[in-house]
Amino acid sequence: MHGRALVVGGGVAGLAAARGLLRAGWEVEVRERRGSPPDIGGALSLWRGGMAALDRLGLGERVRERAERPLRGVIADPSGRALVSAGPQRTDVHLVSRSSLLAVLVEGLPDGLVLWNTPVTEADVRGAGGFDAVVGADGIHSIVRRTAFPRARAPRPLGTVAYRGTVPGPAGMASETWGRGMLFGVTPMDARTTNWFASLRTELLRGREGRDHADLLRELYGGWHPVVARVLDALPGTGVDRRELYDLPALGSYVHGRHVLIGDAAHAMAPNLGRGACESLVDAAVLADALGAGPTVGGALARYDRRRHGPTRRVVRASRAVNRVSTGVRLDGPRDLLARTLGHLV
Ligand SMILES: Cc1cc2nc3c(=O)[nH]c(=O)nc-3n(C[C@H](O)[C@H](O)[C@H](O)COP(=O)(O)OP(=O)(O)OC[C@H]3O[C@@H](n4cnc5c(N)ncnc54)[C@H](O)[C@@H]3O)c2cc1C
Repeated sequence: MHGRALVVGGGVAGLAAARGLLRAGWEVEVRERRGSPPDIGGALSLWRGGMAALDRLGLGERVRERAERPLRGVIADPSGRALVSAGPQRTDVHLVSRSSLLAVLVEGLPDGLVLWNTPVTEADVRGAGGFDAVVGADGIHSIVRRTAFPRARAPRPLGTVAYRGTVPGPAGMASETWGRGMLFGVTPMDARTTNWFASLRTELLRGREGRDHADLLRELYGGWHPVVARVLDALPGTGVDRRELYDLPALGSYVHGRHVLIGDAAHAMAPNLGRGACESLVDAAVLADALGAGPTVGGALARYDRRRHGPTRRVVRASRAVNRVSTGVRLDGPRDLLARTLGHLV
């Protein structure tokens, strides 16, 4: 089946959907409010499902060429004691810079298919005349979700804040260190760059408002083991991204009429399992397959919803649970148990 789709948002989900729909023979228009893809920096971990979706979009090899495979993965406590450790045969993850992934998704799209600097309004969402399907790929604060899904609820705060950035030098292995109320992650980004992220409970920041991010992190994580200390020492002068974390409450269906939600617009989640972009890629591949196969838009969207709603809700719930426990304040026992369980799952 062929048709015309309006994709709202030119991030990972929207660009991947555009690639998939083009391959399925659809006409596509992407409208993105920014002047270029939304690169907030850092590396993304892409797990098996995300890589398989990229393969289905014909982009897997190009991403693998740009990706790092960490030699080891470790979850540790602040002294450096490993709670769980996985060797190369068990780390099933590709780490790729967000900018590289976005570049691969944009490369080769026909000129003019993405309309940059083109914000979509509520009136556009309601109207969208001439399109058979309207794909809301416009992130956690989605205007498509707010406008076309009467039962949608607002994002809910997780009570944690994330900081992230990069520092020069190779990282070798991937590690996540869980302390009381806060965690610190270090992964390779490329052969010359280390990617890091920190997540902590909001209450730990009380009385520390307005502090320089690097100074604050050096104070909070001071005394942690050498892998963390190396990053903290290299922080001054590097860019640090800070954001409060939210996820989305469940929505009965990701489809309403010819409107369909994908990526963070459908199921924004805590970043603790590193799965948001992966699930966005899977959404895009499944949606493109469904719309390509037809026979009707309604039937295809219902099939997409059946395949993606349950699995993504489970990942949202699991990510929320890991967010809670990994930054728990008085939960060393459950925290260590969860770390071991995650290690086995990974
Ligand atoms: C700290 C952190 C670490 C993460 N790490 C990982 C990881 O390691 N692995 C992983 O898989 N995921 C990770 N994620 C999750 C991942 O970043 C997101 O799930 C993913 O970026 C979602 O992509 P998206 O395209 O759905 O949304 P977005 O990236 O938010 O893109 C939405 C796009 O829509 C545009 N837009 C919004 N409104 C409008 C409008 N009205 N008109 C036009 N355009 C509009 C925006 O400008 C934006 O370009 C992490 C997230 C965070 C916060």
